[in-house]
Amino acid sequence: MENIASNLQAVIDRIRTAETRFGREPGSVRLLAVSKTHSPGALRAAVAAGQRDFGENYLQEALSKIAALGSERLIWHYIGPVQSNKTRQLAENFHWLHSLDREKIAHRLSAARPPGLPPLNVCIQVNISNEASKSGVAPTAVADLANIVTELPGLHLRGLMVIPAPGASFDRQRAAFARSRALYDELTGLGLSMDTLSMGMSDDLEAAVAEGSNLVRVGTAIFGQRRA
Ligand SMILES: *Cc1c(COP(=O)(O)O)cnc(C)c1O
Repeated sequence: MENIASNLQAVIDRIRTAETRFGREPGSVRLLAVSKTHSPGALRAAVAAGQRDFGENYLQEALSKIAALGSERLIWHYIGPVQSNKTRQLAENFHWLHSLDREKIAHRLSAARPPGLPPLNVCIQVNISNEASKSGVAPTAVADLANIVTELPGLHLRGLMVIPAPGASFDRQRAAFARSRALYDELTGLGLSMDTLSMGMSDDLEAAVAEGSNLVRVGTAIFGQRRA
């Protein structure tokens, strides 16, 4: 627990170093602390060290942490798989959702977003290295889903989220992130308004920053290993 503040600072230093090395504007990459499986106490240690954005993958676990840390002004991001019977609770309790991959879910989230809240910030999850994972939209299908999201009053399209297959080398990691960046540029070129490229984790954040990520999702390097 006492390591969390220093781990967090080390991750921030990695991000800043990568920004400088790859010609990115200083401070342009946002850090999402991925806190799944970790205790409310671990999150509190990160909050005390200045962290505000937290990412969670499991709804029930997330809801108990949101309640436990309710007095802090935190920004909660849902980054796990979305089941359609969970859309109401997701729409009611989170500020961001990074893992949108179906039209039906988009409609349900929008309809369930409480009118008193600003629209839910949404990233579309793209399956950028097809062989690796079943989740995410095929690159060729992203534009259609993005156009639907922009029409929905309860949602605010922010960008794309990718989880590439673990890269064997820095250059392999960069190649998958470069494809994601190219897709992002293609969509904004079509007139879609987006500002977020959510990519990079503990083991590949430098490669992601090199290729234009402006939001990295980091768990292990901040909170330590997750239990199996
Ligand atoms: C768990 C998770 C992360 C964090 O991964 P680390 O390797 O622990 O940094 C990032 N993004 C998503 C979608 C995750 O599920």
